[in-house]
Amino acid sequence: MAPSSERLFDSLGHFGRFQACVYFASVFQAMSCGIHYLASVFMAVTPNFVCGFPGNVSSILFHNSSASSIQDIWTLWTSADNYIVVQLENGEIWELDQCSRSKRKVSLDLAYEYKGNKSVFSCSDGFLYDDTKWKNTVVTQWDLVCDREWLAKLIQPTFMLGVLIGAVIFGDIADRLGRQRVIWFTSAGQFVFGIAVAFTFDYYSFVVVRFLLAMDFNILIILANMAGKFSIGVAFGLIYLYTAELYPTIVRSLAVGSGSMMCRVGSVVAPFCVYLRSVWIFMPLVHFSLLCLCILEMAAPRVAVVGAGVIGLSTALCIVETCPSSSVTVLSDQFSPNTTSDVAAGMLIPHTYPGTPIHVQKQWFKETFTYLFAISNSAEASEAGIHLVSGWQVFKSTPKEELPFWSDVVLGFRPMSEAELQKFPQHRFGQAFTTLKCDCPPYLLWLEKRLKATGVQMYNRKVADLWELHSEYDIVVNCTGIGAHQLVGDKKLFPVRGQVLQVHAPWVKHFIRDGDGLTYIYPGINRVTLGGTREKKSWSLLPDPGTTKDIFDRCCSLEASLQKAQDVKVKVGLRPSRQCVRLQREVLSQGELKLPVVHNYGHGAGGFSVHRGTAKEAAHLVGECIAALRGSSLRAKL
Ligand SMILES: Cc1cc2nc3c(=O)[nH]c(=O)nc-3n(C[C@H](O)[C@H](O)[C@H](O)COP(=O)(O)OP(=O)(O)OC[C@H]3O[C@@H](n4cnc5c(N)ncnc54)[C@H](O)[C@@H]3O)c2cc1C
Repeated sequence: MAPSSERLFDSLGHFGRFQACVYFASVFQAMSCGIHYLASVFMAVTPNFVCGFPGNVSSILFHNSSASSIQDIWTLWTSADNYIVVQLENGEIWELDQCSRSKRKVSLDLAYEYKGNKSVFSCSDGFLYDDTKWKNTVVTQWDLVCDREWLAKLIQPTFMLGVLIGAVIFGDIADRLGRQRVIWFTSAGQFVFGIAVAFTFDYYSFVVVRFLLAMDFNILIILANMAGKFSIGVAFGLIYLYTAELYPTIVRSLAVGSGSMMCRVGSVVAPFCVYLRSVWIFMPLVHFSLLCLCILEMAAPRVAVVGAGVIGLSTALCIVETCPSSSVTVLSDQFSPNTTSDVAAGMLIPHTYPGTPIHVQKQWFKETFTYLFAISNSAEASEAGIHLVSGWQVFKSTPKEELPFWSDVVLGFRPMSEAELQKFPQHRFGQAFTTLKCDCPPYLLWLEKRLKATGVQMYNRKVADLWELHSEYDIVVNCTGIGAHQLVGDKKLFPVRGQVLQVHAPWVKHFIRDGDGLTYIYPGINRVTLGGTREKKSWSLLPDPGTTKDIFDRCCSLEASLQKAQDVKVKVGLRPSRQCVRLQREVLSQGELKLPVVHNYGHGAGGFSVHRGTAKEAAHLVGECIAALRGSSLRAKL
């Protein structure tokens, strides 16, 4: 298979629900075929039999043995040339052959050998069958013996004729209308006729229904179609080569190897299925249900989320939660720990976006706070790296806005007391509150884990142009952070370089933030983040030693004990900044082709503070795209 197909699997998923459905649908179909093929051998068995007789029997003779019931004779029966002598309660003596019976003229003496006159009659009272081995076969049910024996012999040839005619007719139709429709149609036929055959009431309905069933063996049909409408026997074994196209290389040989045995498995279990009729009936039901699942999987809108920072991962999670019918894939050239989100301090203190109404920003923050607060109160808190932290925001002069818009979202917001302010002699005003902090790399890993648990696929891939995804996905969500500058050429997006230090100072338990937002001390679960810098339009990701010293000095002036901090690590990230977050729908088009895109980037210095709120809004926009897609496909069908 071409490498491009493997790349397709990278985005479609290697062996996901779709491939499992295809595999098991073909397994059940192949088994069902094997069973139906061999079933007639067991269904049309002709046991020992003799002509029936009119009336009640009083004694029975078979050579030298006498018996009171015909069942006792079958154990002595040796060949079809034998006959049985029965005396009826009315005194008549009959010789019962396989296809005729004779009534003796003289009925006084009951002997096996009789030389006197007798009248020969046809078997108008039916037949008596040996039911010691076969309780019931189509031969015994519909008396397919003697002059009707050829009807029994016709059962398998009519079935094979159905396969042949079906292969030619549907093979040709598949060429014209496409294989998918023919697979659907013939699978529905297998489903209906596979069950109907169990309810047939006479020989003719049985043969007709099996003929129609055989016509629907689409495995043969499609493969006959591929093999140039001949060599059905060879094609039959090739079903798994056909479906192999749908499996990635790592599982292909296993799927093909195990799958190709299934027809033989069907043949082996055929006698048991004939015996346990109900099992057999369920075969087409299972196959058909699995096929429906395949179609549902194929119909699921394919959503690609580009970007695996906090925005991409949380958006993917919200899409899975709000649009469960969709199939979500995350594509990114970097994952944790190599994203901007890994550098962030992760404090839930909103940054203000001048271009976005305050009530919208407050809503985003509130949703994010509520979501993370619930996690912080759960057993997941430590793994997700979420915890509550209390502290102070201090100002050198009283700010214009003493009560920020988010003051009633965080916990216990209040002005600092005089006693508290004494800790900060250079500051005149302060606010104390409790908020949440994400330890970013653990939180990103926790999001990834949740996504994988819901079946979301994640692939390492750099997207050069969103349009390149149009053939593989129905909807694209752009969460590329600062990467959107190049990816979609957004000139309103610019980097604000931030350098932070992460130090070991376990005694620092309260956060301290200078009101200008430039200097801050944010204690995490294991390390304390010291910041920071804001360098507009600087693209450099190299740490600057002069800045490191400056940050450290500024933080020590707020918290002198940090002089004793150890194990200093320096990190740099580019805040994806804009006047407002770009959270909107767009439809890319090239001629007739269209690709709905949802943008969710440009969170600047506050991505963690609002990520859940914006992710929910982006998921809502994805839901609108899905509804629009369904509407347009419905209109196209009408
Ligand atoms: C020093 C610093 C401190 C911060 N502190 C805080 C804080 O305390 N609180 C707070 O709320 N916010 C803070 N932030 C801001 C926060 O980090 C960002 O707002 C947030 O990380 C943005 O997330 P994102 O997912 O949009 O971007 P990123 O984390 O940069 O993720 C973008 C993803 O897109 C991928 N990508 C980009 N282009 C492509 C492409 N072409 N093809 C494929 N993949 C692509 C990237 O590989 C990456 O995976 C801080 C930022 C910095 C730099």
